[in-house]
Amino acid sequence: MLDALATVIETAEKTGKPFWQIVEEDSCQENAVEPAESFEAMRATLKAMSDSVADYDASRRSASGLVGGEGEKIEARRKAGRLICGDFVGRVMEIALKIGESNACMRRIVAAPTAGSCGVVPAVLIAVSEKEDFSEDELVQALFVAGGIGGVIGERAFLAGAAGGCQAEIGAASAMAAGALTALYGGDAAMIANAAALALKGLLGLSCDPVAGLVEVPCVKRNALGAVNAVTSADMTLAGIKSQIPPDEVIDAMRTIGRNMDPDIKETGVGGLAGTETGKAISQRIKL
Ligand code: SF4
Repeated sequence: MLDALATVIETAEKTGKPFWQIVEEDSCQENAVEPAESFEAMRATLKAMSDSVADYDASRRSASGLVGGEGEKIEARRKAGRLICGDFVGRVMEIALKIGESNACMRRIVAAPTAGSCGVVPAVLIAVSEKEDFSEDELVQALFVAGGIGGVIGERAFLAGAAGGCQAEIGAASAMAAGALTALYGGDAAMIANAAALALKGLLGLSCDPVAGLVEVPCVKRNALGAVNAVTSADMTLAGIKSQIPPDEVIDAMRTIGRNMDPDIKETGVGGLAGTETGKAISQRIKL
């Protein structure tokens, strides 16, 4: 398993292979599968992501009643041309919210890397596929890029809020999405890693503080923020802006921050937003 983005960059420079292929080959070796099989499995993942958007049902509410209909609200304002951030970023937000709330409503989603952060990667991939003329194969390749970045973060740090706070879930998802976007727009391995670093940097220290211990508040809206953060990170990279801290060191910083976090803000539902008066009241109400 790849445990450093620097290794991917070096391999790409030595062999001329693209980032996605290095990840795919590593994964095939690890899981003893053929590249064609692996590619088709990733295509099925892409389809499941796309299905999760198509299956969105704005009338659904989560069991607690805290979540539901968010994506539709952004969709309505976007279609009315009233979003400050414009149509494309609006669509990214909308998809991220729709998938995040679908997860809270127990619909089928793809954990990327986790269920709590499931809206980020599909939001950027599906939104750009509507805007640009990318082939399905290119989108599948972008998913390999996302998977490779998530794999390295998992190896060097964490991918669970319980281990490293929300920086490990929404932060990792945002880094994955930023890398995937950068690859789609022609960025090389170093640029892909840089975009991931910029995205993760923006979310370092993010607490995991789910109200009543549910993946609803603040999780659903954090998907929208993580997805938009990925777009800005990819755009910064493609414009030539660099992370002054090397990507692997950014991941290592995330690990250190996660280890130093108080357990109250690591998915225990005790501190942060869960510990506010309203958070505690909601928790009590749901338990009744
Ligand atoms: S707050 Fe915690 S549970 Fe919610 S998305 Fe972030 S890491 Fe996951």
